[in-house]
Formats: sequence, structure tokens, C-alpha cells
Amino acid sequence: MVVTALVELLAPSRCLACRARGPMPWCAACDANVVRIGHGCQRCGGRSGRGHACWPTRAPVDATVALYDYAGPVAATIRTAKLGGAHGAWPLLGHALTERLLAAEVDVDVVTWVPTPAERARRRGYDHAALLGRAVASGLGLPGVALLHARTHLRGDVYRFRPPADLPGTRMLLVDDVLTTGQTAARAAGVLRAHGGDGIVLAVVARAGAHPLGA
Ligand SMILES: [Zn+2]
Ligand SMILES: [Zn+2]
Repeated sequence: MVVTALVELLAPSRCLACRARGPMPWCAACDANVVRIGHGCQRCGGRSGRGHACWPTRAPVDATVALYDYAGPVAATIRTAKLGGAHGAWPLLGHALTERLLAAEVDVDVVTWVPTPAERARRRGYDHAALLGRAVASGLGLPGVALLHARTHLRGDVYRFRPPADLPGTRMLLVDDVLTTGQTAARAAGVLRAHGGDGIVLAVVARAGAHPLGA
């Protein structure tokens, strides 16, 4: 609520997807097309049910919270917030994600995020993942710490652990914008696990595929 009020002060409310003036995050027409995932499988955040494609046993993720299907207005919002300079969307998406994490009673010590390699973040003007992760940390009243450093690699971004001055605990919430194949999130979570992370919870705004690491 505080975040929403702050954003209202800075800019008139516009739908994050179609930019029509009106309530945030989405106007009624766009909101009708937002697909909320609801409480599905705890481990992969997808719709549970027999035979659903879950994280494989070896995946270093203990639980996943996913808010929306990556489609329609949600996909449009994330694309413009990531690539189109509409960075004001991230605190709002972070707020929505926080509410869902509180409802799910996620219990962690520290919030971190899947970072964007510096060169890409410079080109875009910001690291959207850090904006999202810090918004979630502040919403949960937990420390938000940049525990990972990213660099680009031919086969996808690679992550290195950045030892913090003071690690508040080992139960970590790893925030990212979209979960697709799960490769990126699993790579980042693997680095956290290798450096003492236990009970790693992945929180994503949207989930694109039904098959974490299943591609
Ligand atoms: Zn709209
Ligand atoms: Zn599952």
C-alpha cells in the first residue's frame, strides 16, 4: 500500500500493460486476462496434480512461489518493465509478490535475487531483478542482500557467490521475474546451496512453462 501510494505521487496511475489511465497495476480489461496461479504444488509453484512436471529431485530448490501465468497483460508488463524502461512497475510487482509470500507463510532469513550481468543492466539502465528483490525484501521486513554476481557466458549467465559482510541466516528467498525452463533459477540456487543456503525458496512473478528443467 505504501509502495502504491509512493508510485501514485511520482506518476499518474496507468495500467502497467496497456498504459490506459486508471487503477494499478492493471485496468479492469487487462486484469480480467491476468491468470493467477493460486496455491499449486509447493515445490515447483505450478498447478499440482498427478504427473505434473515438477522440479527433478536433484534441483536445489525446496519450494517455489509463482504468482501469475506468463501470458497476456503479465507478459506485456514484464517485457516493458525489463526492456522498455518502465522500471516503476517493479516495486508494484514486488508488492504483489510479497502479499502472496505472506499468505503462503514463507519463512526465510534473507532475500536475494537472480542478478543481471552488469553490462546488460547498464544497457537497460537498471537491474530489474535487484529492484524486484529489494521491493520484496522491504515488503517482508527482511534484509535484501546481493548474494550473487552474474556474468554472461555463451551457454547462459553464470553466477558466483558474493560473500556478504554478515549473512543473516541460511534460509534464502531467491527472487526472479520469470520462471521458464528453470535452468537459470536452478543455476543461481545451486550456487546459494553450495555456499550454505538451505531451505531455498524461489519466488517469481510469473511462470512461463509447466516444466522446470524439463526441456
Ligand atoms: Zn490495461
Ligand atoms: Zn511440482
